[in-house]
Amino acid sequence: MANVILKDLTKRYGGGALTAVSSLNLSIEDGEFLVLVGPSGCGKSTALRMIAGLEEITSGEVSINDNVVNDVHAKDRDIAMVFQNYALYPHMSVYDNMAFALQIAKFPSEEIKKKVHEVAAILQLEPFLKRRPGQLSGGQRQRVAMGRAIVRQPSVFLMDEPLSNLDAKLRVQMRSEIARIQDRLQVTTIYVTHDQIEAMTMGDRVALMKDGMLQQVDTPSNIYGRPA
Ligand code: ADP
Ligand code: ADP
Repeated sequence: MANVILKDLTKRYGGGALTAVSSLNLSIEDGEFLVLVGPSGCGKSTALRMIAGLEEITSGEVSINDNVVNDVHAKDRDIAMVFQNYALYPHMSVYDNMAFALQIAKFPSEEIKKKVHEVAAILQLEPFLKRRPGQLSGGQRQRVAMGRAIVRQPSVFLMDEPLSNLDAKLRVQMRSEIARIQDRLQVTTIYVTHDQIEAMTMGDRVALMKDGMLQQVDTPSNIYGRPA
């Protein structure tokens, strides 16, 4: 578990012509589920990618667990990320999809087995471990993508519009699924979306972003009012 602190985090593109993220200041607490919400193009993905180490920082700082990580490579940041266009390995079983990163990292096979089964239980994927991704529903595939990311027990979990390729019914179902899983794992999570309903229903806190800047950071009920 870890906190994430952004200090004057800024990203400019095109030699300074466009400020995609403008002096973002934000603290995400240990175990918190923060939703970063705003219209398309407001800089959410760019901010998330800088936290992940996938985008160069123009100025400012990203700290994880009180350590500045600006110069730490993405793979050494103890972060896992799920995108909207997650790609599972189509020829591997669900089990192998989730085990793969641990195998690469040379974990002992008994430990891999234990971790994969733990995560599969939380995600309710145990009945499907022998199937291939093509034999799963969209929601099941989405859960495998999450499982693959969290099986390494990252300190920080980043999600960028993970539900936007699902149909409306599944999206509703997965909103509460993801919130339940995060609650169970208590992993510090930053969730990017343009969907205000996701922000309202999923986060412990919501950070509203517009034109590269933070407008407001508060609980969903303080921002959107209490649900009727
Ligand atoms: P969001 O995730 O909120 O939709 P983005 O972070 O993707 O917003 O984009 C923020 C702004 O930065 C947009 O104006 C976008 O066009 C611009 N942008 C994003 N990535 C690049 C890039 N690689 N080069 C130039 N401009 C970019
Ligand atoms: P999202 O809003 O989910 O980030 P986009 O379609 O805006 O998705 O961006 C997809 C990719 O294209 C990202 O890697 C982003 O950095 C890049 N991108 C976005 N806008 C621009 C732009 N104006 N110029 C160059 N690359 C861009």
